[in-house]
Amino acid sequence: MTTETRTSIVWDYAPAPESADHIRLKDRYGLFIDGDFKDPADGGYVPTINPATEEPIAEVAYGGPVDVTAAVQSARAAHPRWAALKDLERAKYLFRIARLIQERARELAVVETIDGGKPLRESRDVDVPLAAAHFFYYAGWADKLRYGTGASEVRPLGVVGQIVPWNFPLLMAAWKLAPALACGNVAILKPAETTPLTALLLAEICQEAELPPGVVTILPGDESTGASLVRAPGIDKIAFTGSTAVGRDIQAALAGTNTHLTLELGGKSANIVFEDAALDQAVEGIVNGIFFNQGHVCCAGSRLLIQESVRDEVIAKLWQRMGRLRVGDPLDKNTDVGAINSAEQLSRIEALVAAGEDEGATRRSVECELPARGYWFAPTLFTDVSPAHRIAVEEIFGPVVSVLTFRTQAEAIEKANNSRYGLAAGIWTDKGSKAFQVASALKAGVVWQNTYNHFDPTAAFGGYKESGFGREGGPAGLRPYLQVVR
Ligand code: NAD
Repeated sequence: MTTETRTSIVWDYAPAPESADHIRLKDRYGLFIDGDFKDPADGGYVPTINPATEEPIAEVAYGGPVDVTAAVQSARAAHPRWAALKDLERAKYLFRIARLIQERARELAVVETIDGGKPLRESRDVDVPLAAAHFFYYAGWADKLRYGTGASEVRPLGVVGQIVPWNFPLLMAAWKLAPALACGNVAILKPAETTPLTALLLAEICQEAELPPGVVTILPGDESTGASLVRAPGIDKIAFTGSTAVGRDIQAALAGTNTHLTLELGGKSANIVFEDAALDQAVEGIVNGIFFNQGHVCCAGSRLLIQESVRDEVIAKLWQRMGRLRVGDPLDKNTDVGAINSAEQLSRIEALVAAGEDEGATRRSVECELPARGYWFAPTLFTDVSPAHRIAVEEIFGPVVSVLTFRTQAEAIEKANNSRYGLAAGIWTDKGSKAFQVASALKAGVVWQNTYNHFDPTAAFGGYKESGFGREGGPAGLRPYLQVVR
């Protein structure tokens, strides 16, 4: 009785917008080459847009082929001295960058949110602290590379080209730059078209940290900039995070060359709920698995596999919980689901959701008031999904979850592995032995048990099958940036 009375009171949140007044962005950002911001030689300036308002925020230079050549020359010139630095000296620069990220955390969080659309709560509590943590973590490895790899002599690869997507712009930059620099490489980072700003602030941080010119280059641009970087003579390794289609193109371009390559690609990860799971916790994990960052997460738990005996209960609880998600202004500290990153991504989500309906799945989207301007998509649940439906096979990269069911543990494993991807999975069960058995049978690079979307610099992350190869994070993340001499 008491509980009923208590929960019948409807509480709402007052608006809690984070102030953006302290942000001092420049009107224009050049290419960060040789330790300084420069006008593009053969590229142009393109505005970057706030996806929650469709307003331009700043103009950003795009690098053309001549700029790519200049970037590689500067990086090549910087490499010998950087590689020859004492390990502990290199580490000091990484520690400095980590601390400067912490000092500028509030600014970085707000800029990440206005440039990309993700809720401030996430950029403030996840992206920025984890970016700093990656620099701290790999700073610690810089003088222990032999122990991290088990080799008795290792060498850096040289100049690495790094291409990142728009879903975790600063965090992906940190995932790439921190291990590369710790291992004695110099790096040329290409941020994604729609989210270049925090990488450019990171360039300022490199200046503040007095990193020698040419050690880090930030080269914003579009796919042609990325394609030039991949093919540029003088690049020793490409580290790419993005879609499987582009990953394939890069792999083809580098076939037969000596350029090292790691690929972190797409996913269609299974989140498996067994009947013995703590269902309320599982529902929180499902929500975090698919609605975190509007579902723009490579390892999103977008295929929800529920044991048949608890299907109705889980769906009822999930639907009720989805109704309480707050969708809207990403700068509001109470917002759970922010703006879709771009008009292009919104139309991709809409097309796949329409395909789900056409193929006969049942769609339920949360009814919520969406802002008049900007790119938005209401949290959506699909039931009556068959494993062959496009929404069960293709990466939607939006706040859309497709529910499938299973009867036995063997069927759960078979359905979870029935994907051309293999990035991540979640298992919800009260039984440790079951979790271990299932985890060992899953073809997924990361398996979470009774949690989802938890990241830590000490843990390796990467895929199987069409989700790519190579690992980032942990000691395993050092290996792709080193050559083992003996
Ligand atoms: P995308 O592949 O279109 O773009 C990623 C980056 O590659 C961008 O910087 C883009 O400019 C660049 N690029 C595009 N075409 C290129 C080409 N031909 N040569 C070189 N570079 C090129 O991907 P996206 O739409 O920006 O990001 C979403 C994808 O990224 C999803 O598929 C997602 O799963 C994946 N992703 C994977 C991980 C992971 O760790 N596995 C992490 C985040 C995102």
